[in-house]
Amino acid sequence: MAGIYVHVPFCKQKCTYCDFASYSREIGKAEAYFACLLKEIDSRALELKEKTFNTIYLGGGTPSFVKAEFIGATINRIKKVFSVTSDAEITIEINPGTLDEQKLAIYKAVGINRFSIGLQSAYDERLCSLNRIHTAEQFLYACSLLKGENISVDVMIGLKDQKIEEVKATIDLAIKGGANHISVYALTPEEGTPMFTTYLNGELPSEDETTELYDFARDYLSTLGFERYEVSNFAKKGFYSKHNLNYWRRGEYIGLGVAASSCIDDRRFTNTEKIDEYVHCLLNDKYAEIFSELIEGDEIKNEYIMLAMRTSEGIILSDYTKNFGSDFLIDYKREISDNQKYLDVCDYSVKIKDDYLYVQNQIIINFMKD
Ligand code: SF4
Repeated sequence: MAGIYVHVPFCKQKCTYCDFASYSREIGKAEAYFACLLKEIDSRALELKEKTFNTIYLGGGTPSFVKAEFIGATINRIKKVFSVTSDAEITIEINPGTLDEQKLAIYKAVGINRFSIGLQSAYDERLCSLNRIHTAEQFLYACSLLKGENISVDVMIGLKDQKIEEVKATIDLAIKGGANHISVYALTPEEGTPMFTTYLNGELPSEDETTELYDFARDYLSTLGFERYEVSNFAKKGFYSKHNLNYWRRGEYIGLGVAASSCIDDRRFTNTEKIDEYVHCLLNDKYAEIFSELIEGDEIKNEYIMLAMRTSEGIILSDYTKNFGSDFLIDYKREISDNQKYLDVCDYSVKIKDDYLYVQNQIIINFMKD
C-alpha cells in the first residue's frame, strides 16, 4: 500500500512561524494551479498503474481556503485514474474560519473522511500574535459542522511565555471539539520567518522548558485515553493516521503539486516551490521536479531505522527481516548493547523507552551507518 499527498499552496495570510510553501497573495492563480494539478495526476497515475494507494492527504497551505470545487475535482480525478482502495483514508487540512456547510458537503460527497484542523492554541491573544486567521470560537464552530466526523487537531508548544495552563486549555478545547487524534508539535524557529527574530532575541522557551510542556501534554493526553503512537502524535484506539504511519514505516508515497515530495521505488524527488514554475512546466508537458536522488545501501536502512524509531512500536523485527533479509538483533548487536539503557528489546521489536522518545534523535544517531 502507498500514499498520495496533494499540496495546496494557498493561505489567507501567513502565520509568523510558517516556512511551508504557502502563499497569501496568489489565490488568483488557483484555477491555473488546479488545472495543472490534474495534468500531473493523470501522468503520474499512468506511471504508477501497478501500485495501489490506501491514503490520500490534502495538505498545505490551507486546502479549505480554496473553492471546494477544486478539491472535489482533484479527489475525483485521483480516484478515477489511480488505483485507490475503496476504504481509503482521505484527509483534508482545515483552517478554522475557512470551513462552511457548502464546502463540507462537497468534501463528504467526494469521500473525504478525515479532517485535520490547525488549532495551535486556545488563547485568542496567542492566535492573534501568531497571525492565525481564527479564534477559539471559530474552531468550535468548525467542529460543530464536523460533528461525528473523524477529527484531528494540531497543538503547538514551545511558544513565547507559554505555560502548562495554555497547553491544557488547548487540549481541552480540542477534546471539546471532538478530536480523536491530536498532534503536539514543538515550534521550530525557521530562518526568514518573523518568529526567527523572536528566537534570536532569546524570547522562546529553552529546550528543557519545551520538554516540560511536552511531558505534560503526553501525560495529560494519556489520562484522556489517547495513545502516543509516534513522538508527536496521539490518538484514541483505532484512530491512528494511516497516511502518516505509511511514512514512518518507510512506505511509498507520491507527492503532487508545488513543493510536494515523493518516494517511489527508492527514488526520492521533489517539485519546485514556485507556483509559476510549476504551472509553466506542466503546461509544457513536463514535471516540475527540482530534485531527484536514488536511495541505496545503508542509506535505506538508516532511513528505515530513523523513521521507525520515532514510533512507539519501534523496529518490528519481522518487518526489518522482510525488508532487508537479515536479523536486526544481529546487524545492530553492538548499537543495541551500547544503548540498552534507552531501549526496550523483546522478541517482537526494539523500541525507545517511553521516557526517552521525545529525545530520540540523540539515540537514533548511534544506529546510523556511514
Ligand atoms: S495556515 Fe498553515 S500553511 Fe498557512 S501560513 Fe499558517 S502555518 Fe503556514
